Amino acid sequence: MTIDQIIREGTSQVKTTFCSFQANIMSIENKREPYYNACKKCYSKVDMKEGVVECYKCKKIDVECNQRYILKLIVTDGEQSIKITIFDDSEMLIGCPVSEYMSMNGEKDMQSKFNRNLISCVGKKYEFYTKANKISEDDRAMGRWIAQYIERIDDVEHEDINKDDGCQNKRRKL
Ligand SMILES: [Zn+2]
Repeated sequence: MTIDQIIREGTSQVKTTFCSFQANIMSIENKREPYYNACKKCYSKVDMKEGVVECYKCKKIDVECNQRYILKLIVTDGEQSIKITIFDDSEMLIGCPVSEYMSMNGEKDMQSKFNRNLISCVGKKYEFYTKANKISEDDRAMGRWIAQYIERIDDVEHEDINKDDGCQNKRRKL
C-alpha cells in the first residue's frame, strides 16, 4: 500500500485489521527527547506538578507511571509524506530498552551513542503497520498517524539475493 491509499482506507472506517506501507524515515522530530512519562494503566502522558502525578484520561491523581519511548517521525514513500508516531518499537531504532536509556540520564556521552543509532535510521526504509480505524478524525486531519509496530526493510539483503541469482544463472550456463 502507499501512504495515499492508507489515508483513503482510513476514512472508510471499516478496516479493523492492520494495513501496512513501506516508507523511508525523513526526519525525527523529537530525537533529543524520545520518551514521555506514561500512566501505567492507560499509557497516556501524565502531568507532573509539585510531586503530584495526574492522569487526565483516568481522571486520577497519584497514578503510577513509568517512562515510555515515543518517536515522532516524518516518513515518505516517494509520492507522499506523513507524520507517524511509534511507541515501544522505538527501541529498535534506538538500540536499548527505555529503562537503560533513562538510567544514563545526564551522561551525555553514553546517551549520544544511542542518539547516533537513532539518527542513522534517517533515510532507511521500514514497513509501518497501522490500524487505520484507530486513528481519530482529529489526528487524521492533522496528518498524525500511529504505527503499532514497524519492521526494517533490508535493501541490502534484497541486493544479495539478486546477486546469488546472477551467480546461479551463470553456473547454469556453464
Ligand atoms: Zn491513565
